[in-house]
Amino acid sequence: MSELKLFNSLTRKLETFQPVHSGEARVYTCGPTVYNYPHIGNMRAYVFADVLGRTLNWKGYKLTHVINITDVGHLTDDADSGEDKLEKAAAEKAQSIWDIARHYTEAYWADVKALNIREPAKWSVATDYIDEMLEFAKQIAPKHCYELDSGLYFDVSTVDDYGRLARAHTEEGEGRIDAVEGKRNAADFAIWRKTPPGEKRQMEWDSPWGRGAPGWHLECSVMGGKLLGFPFDIHTGGIDHREIHHPNEIAQNQAFCCTNGLEVAENSGARIWMHNNFLVERSGKMSKSSGEFLRLQLLIDKGYHPLAYRLMCLQAHYRSELEFSWEGLGAALTRLKRMVMGVEALKNRHAELVSASIDQSALSEREAAWTLKQVQGDDWGKLQPAIDKFDAVISDDLNTAVALTAVEDALAAKKIDPMRKLDLVGAMDSILGLNLLNLTRADLRIRPKAAQITEDEIETALAKRKEARAAKDFATSDAIRDELAAKGVEVMDGDPLGWEWKLA
Ligand SMILES: [Zn+2]
Repeated sequence: MSELKLFNSLTRKLETFQPVHSGEARVYTCGPTVYNYPHIGNMRAYVFADVLGRTLNWKGYKLTHVINITDVGHLTDDADSGEDKLEKAAAEKAQSIWDIARHYTEAYWADVKALNIREPAKWSVATDYIDEMLEFAKQIAPKHCYELDSGLYFDVSTVDDYGRLARAHTEEGEGRIDAVEGKRNAADFAIWRKTPPGEKRQMEWDSPWGRGAPGWHLECSVMGGKLLGFPFDIHTGGIDHREIHHPNEIAQNQAFCCTNGLEVAENSGARIWMHNNFLVERSGKMSKSSGEFLRLQLLIDKGYHPLAYRLMCLQAHYRSELEFSWEGLGAALTRLKRMVMGVEALKNRHAELVSASIDQSALSEREAAWTLKQVQGDDWGKLQPAIDKFDAVISDDLNTAVALTAVEDALAAKKIDPMRKLDLVGAMDSILGLNLLNLTRADLRIRPKAAQITEDEIETALAKRKEARAAKDFATSDAIRDELAAKGVEVMDGDPLGWEWKLA
């Protein structure tokens, strides 16, 4: 069994995972601000956190994962200027802020489900923790904060080594900051924002510093500390949080832990900080200005199964940029089809051998139950090298790109009982989360929304074409093919995957 090594952004080193609480892993992930649909680049962060959580389970740890939902306090600028994203969306759409938050939270959850991201132990909604935020702010205020007309500000000079996380990655070491009159240090930030006199916000609460709303950074510190306890094991988020949001969270955690005499792990509240890199789209064809907002539903509308996007994420290391292109997504879908076909062939072979088809629900349950310990307790014979490779690469800072090839190695292995192979693929998929034991070829063939022809019509035309070809009537066969092509259906003679057609 390989030791689990994870890259800690704070120390810029691979570190062996050592839990704060024996046998447990407590993970906090910065969640979405629910004022718009999630971009698929945002969803990469949750696929990454999901693989991390599944790996911790695989290694035998009891996982407690928290993802927050930010429904208040996140300004259009990460620093202290701009408007509240939710208030702005509500004003633009003339809807209540609560309706906006609910709508986009549900849209986010739909994407989570479609990408087979496991539900965390807790979705923490920021507005459910206002009392705790006020309490936290009251405790740190005397030693670490000062009040201005616009709100309560955190004085970053009151904690050791402010900005260490950002400095580990950038030359200047400080993220973008905004001038607010009266700030003691340029990097000081608001932990409570007062509602300006004469204005009324939809979301505001009373506080010792006047009516207003909490700062976004405060929310994550409070929910992480409250639900997981300081210090906890791992804090994750997108690389865009490394400059401002996470350094500010760390400063607050330090202040809170010092005030309360708690140990401050790694001087930050969490032992390991992990960040996934961006999804990039270099062609520029899919920018928002072209009218196509790159969200998961757009991929589905174009006929791509959402798990093809998950596979695309897994093909890159989480710390590398991932380049998005439709060709790349198409290639990921083809790869997923091959794996699913490999699994279907194993199911059929098993059915031949035992003269009974496989109990699908029992198979799925077995997949859910695999941990490394159980895998190790089994005799895998010729499959052992594939397991060892899989565990070694996933333990090496979640190298999913190579882990995928271990699945393909297992599927290609010769002279092995099909049920054993299915078990092994299921065990590996308990981390990869591609739903390999349940997906069928039919599931993967999604009709693009723009397609003008039904599947029945396609199948009928193809049957006629088959008859014509059998009768060597190639003129008719070609005519049917052209007719289908005109309706956007590409006929695929001799396709190695056995796909008879696809919608172009
Ligand atoms: Zn956060």
